[in-house]
Amino acid sequence: MLTQDFIQSAARSAGFDACGAAALGALPDDMLRSYHEWLQGSGHAGMRYMERHLQKRADPRLLMKSGARTAVVTLFSYKPQRRQPPHLPQVSCYAYGADYHALLKQKLWSLLAALQAEQPSLQGRTFVDTAPVQERYWAALAGLGWLGKNGMLISKELGSYTFIGVLLLSDEVESNATPPKNRCGSCTRCINACPTGAIMDKGRVNARRCLSYRTIEQHANPPHGDDADEADEAKGEKPAASPYIFGCDICQEVCPWNRKAKAAAHSEMQMLPQLLTLTANDWLAMSAEDFDKIFEHSPIKRATLLGMKENVRRFNF
Ligand code: SF4
Ligand code: SF4
Repeated sequence: MLTQDFIQSAARSAGFDACGAAALGALPDDMLRSYHEWLQGSGHAGMRYMERHLQKRADPRLLMKSGARTAVVTLFSYKPQRRQPPHLPQVSCYAYGADYHALLKQKLWSLLAALQAEQPSLQGRTFVDTAPVQERYWAALAGLGWLGKNGMLISKELGSYTFIGVLLLSDEVESNATPPKNRCGSCTRCINACPTGAIMDKGRVNARRCLSYRTIEQHANPPHGDDADEADEAKGEKPAASPYIFGCDICQEVCPWNRKAKAAAHSEMQMLPQLLTLTANDWLAMSAEDFDKIFEHSPIKRATLLGMKENVRRFNF
């Protein structure tokens, strides 16, 4: 059986900052109930992919044909070493550098290859934000942190500026982690700081209100039907007092655990130099050709140039 030490050392070699393993099973009933309530209340703002494959989300063992037994969960820090100048329209710091999806997938595949070199019969499947996996729950169970009131996974060492990559395995491995104690205590800084009141109870966020949805997903996947009506109503609301035109870091920036966390030194997360100078007028005047060139490998392209221009006009920065 693969040991925790072996897996963690292979994860470090693959470039991850932290790694843990958890034996897979069905999600606890209270978590599932809370997820269903959130969907029924349209907290997901009609993002259809969150409604799909509910059975597999409830029991990720179903995500591999032969039955998955273990979740190896990895963290990759993106806490920046420097920030955009504050007078410029702001971009969430996860989008300062390269798109993390491909980057993390590649690292997960090299981790899987290292584990298979030790145990050739092992099969695995990688997930980065794209499949019905409750990544933060499994990360907590693997001992990597706790679920904060802002819904983020918070690691004592790395804070919440981390990407989560999940590798499901066909075999059991040593997994003796205990989920860390929730250290939010009586703090409510994230809830108080959210400019749109998007943070609900039980660490749930109302995506319709959240600027991460409103500045990105609303442009990437325009809502339909009733969701579109609600989105139009949201557009008519008083603009949020926020400096962000792509995503939003406010509820993470105020979290004391992020102040303590070390900045990431990953070269892939280096800031695009243009983000140090782009003013609101530069964004509004940007051509499609320049947008495609500058943001070719960036998550910012998901919001589209038209969407970014709308964000610049719509939000108070
Ligand atoms: S990301 Fe911004 S808008 Fe969304 S919950 Fe956090 S503070 Fe609120
Ligand atoms: S700001 Fe406070 S309540 Fe919110 S996640 Fe951080 S520690 Fe928890």
